[in-house]
Amino acid sequence: AKEAGGNRFALADPDSDARAITRHGLTNRLPTALERGEFFVEYQPLVRLSDGSVRGAEALVRWLHPVHGVLGPDHFIPLAESTGLIVPLGRWVLVQAARQARAWQLPRDDGPPVRVNVNLSPCQLEQPGLVTDFVAVLEEAGIEPTAICLELTETALVGAGEEALRPLRQFADLGVDIALDDFGTGYCNLAALRRLPVTTLKLDRSFTHGMQHRPVDPVDLKIVEGIVSLAHTLGMSVTVEGVETGTQAEHLRGLGCDTAQGWYYARPGPPERLHALSLVDAT
Ligand code: C2E
Ligand code: CA
Ligand code: CA
Ligand code: CA
Repeated sequence: AKEAGGNRFALADPDSDARAITRHGLTNRLPTALERGEFFVEYQPLVRLSDGSVRGAEALVRWLHPVHGVLGPDHFIPLAESTGLIVPLGRWVLVQAARQARAWQLPRDDGPPVRVNVNLSPCQLEQPGLVTDFVAVLEEAGIEPTAICLELTETALVGAGEEALRPLRQFADLGVDIALDDFGTGYCNLAALRRLPVTTLKLDRSFTHGMQHRPVDPVDLKIVEGIVSLAHTLGMSVTVEGVETGTQAEHLRGLGCDTAQGWYYARPGPPERLHALSLVDAT
């Protein structure tokens, strides 16, 4: 019985799922999936902790595979990065996100700006003309650069040289928000943090996992408190991801975190769902 349990666990492991799907020819289909129109974007709201209002959303790409059904990005982003597909795919996601930002902003043009977060792969940073193309996409969609926040992982940026940082500085000069994604998992030191043109720290969910239920470890609280204070000192805001319970939300608000994202508020979903969450009415 023990062995069977072990096997069931192994089957549920996302890594072995990914390997199994890769074996079944996911690799062959990925290069043409974009032209076949098999990708779609879900949005997960970003909530201001001080008053619970929805400030925007993160765009998360999915692949509707004809055989395997809906695949999450962990199944195909690494493959897209190693094959170069991430460049046109990332651009496609940006186009969708920009149009969606416009659609959300339109009914409340004099209200506070809606912001859509888009993940940027390190491969995209190396593309010549990235910033020019980005500006063109936004103009086409009819939104300001301030309506987009680009998320880059800490691991992607920590080792980055001046060359890779140049487009980021240009984005920052345009008023684009830059978020350091999965912060706390990539050993970013303080000197490096100061050097990066980053406006938001996105605290990895591993930090807040221990705050799901009472009692909460006081050391966990101190660590997050320290990060928040550091970020605010550097003029950065703090977003926390993976908020799954009210207990977490309460603690994080008390610790001065600015924005939260997670299942407690909403799972990623179709853009229409954000109307139900009264994005357009938030002040
Ligand atoms: P991420 O940027 O860290 O995105 C957050 C992930 O956490 C998402 O997984 C989201 O569905 C999940 N999540 C949100 N709230 C909760 C929660 O309360 N609890 C838990 N346990 N998880 C939560 P998802 O959608 O599977 O995306 C995985 C990763 O794929 C993303 O991690 C991001 O790095 C990457 N990704 C997604 N879309 C894109 C894209 O368009 N371009 C690139 N380059 N990467 C993308
Ligand atoms: Ca992200
Ligand atoms: Ca993240
Ligand atoms: Ca993450």
